[in-house]
Amino acid sequence: MGGLGLCNPSANANFEFDSSIQVTSSLTKEIIEQQTCFRMSVVSAQRQAKANVIASRHRQLVCKQSELTPQLPVSLRRIVSLSSEKGASSWLSVLPIEEHGFALHKGAFRDALCLRYGWLPNGLPAKCVCGHGFTVDHAMNCATGGFPTLRHNKLRDFTAAALSEVCHNVAIEPVLQPLSGESFHYATANVEDEARLDVSAHGFWGSRHQKAFFDVRIFNPTAPSYRNTAVSSLYRRFERDKQKMYEQRIRDVEMGSFTPLVFSTFGGMGSAATVAYKRLASMLSTQRGQSYSSVVSWIRCSTSFSLLRSAVTCLRGARSHRGSPVTIGALDLAISEGQVLPSH
Ligand SMILES: [Zn+2]
Repeated sequence: MGGLGLCNPSANANFEFDSSIQVTSSLTKEIIEQQTCFRMSVVSAQRQAKANVIASRHRQLVCKQSELTPQLPVSLRRIVSLSSEKGASSWLSVLPIEEHGFALHKGAFRDALCLRYGWLPNGLPAKCVCGHGFTVDHAMNCATGGFPTLRHNKLRDFTAAALSEVCHNVAIEPVLQPLSGESFHYATANVEDEARLDVSAHGFWGSRHQKAFFDVRIFNPTAPSYRNTAVSSLYRRFERDKQKMYEQRIRDVEMGSFTPLVFSTFGGMGSAATVAYKRLASMLSTQRGQSYSSVVSWIRCSTSFSLLRSAVTCLRGARSHRGSPVTIGALDLAISEGQVLPSH
């Protein structure tokens, strides 16, 4: 719900105590009656009690949310709604396991909180190397340094790697077949000979031989040009734009399917991407022998962390005038007008 998931024990103690009594009551009864054999009815009663507690906590939070939301300034209301989207809070609720890339150092954690609530992070430069004033919105979009491209490529590569576990013939940046006079309904359809999409894979939708194409788009919903549009409309708009560009060409010429993977920099995703990643989670869960819910939450965490790390890099990464990040060993350096400046 856009919060940090931190409870105030002095406010919650009574509820938590009552919940504990509810969940353990069937076991307590067994102990008092000195039952010695395992009874399935006890397990089901406990499961039901847990579900009741979760539902009751959810009702309380919804109530609190509807009480607090009207009190927020309009700009913060939008940010909280963006932070409430599925996937936007995964980085706060997951165990910070470094091996999975789910850990952040303190500076990145503070920057991530600032980005989540629209606060100004400390220690930002006044000016970007491109000459513009350095605001958070500028940092998210400025092409100098190539960070928006890196952000896009990380999600593309994650998707391709996950697809390669369950599909065959997975390709990154597959080139479409050149056209020989085909025409398309939409004026914005891509008709270039060297047109490429982000990822393709066989056997994702439909038959084993059908080729599925995916294209990633990431947008910053707090950018001035998008600020007054509902986020749901932005997802739809970018999905439609991509579909107009590629869908007919892929259907008619490649005889494949096209799925736009639209993400917001806050971690939420469009409906087509949601359906595709659910399908991917279901295939991976069968392949790996893991539960669907754990695979789907691993995908959410991975995409959420990928976007978050990229957002922090956009904010703190070294931008060079030449348009590519400068990395020397563990130390990032920005070379600016003949001087060598540490970036952190
Ligand atoms: Zn810039």
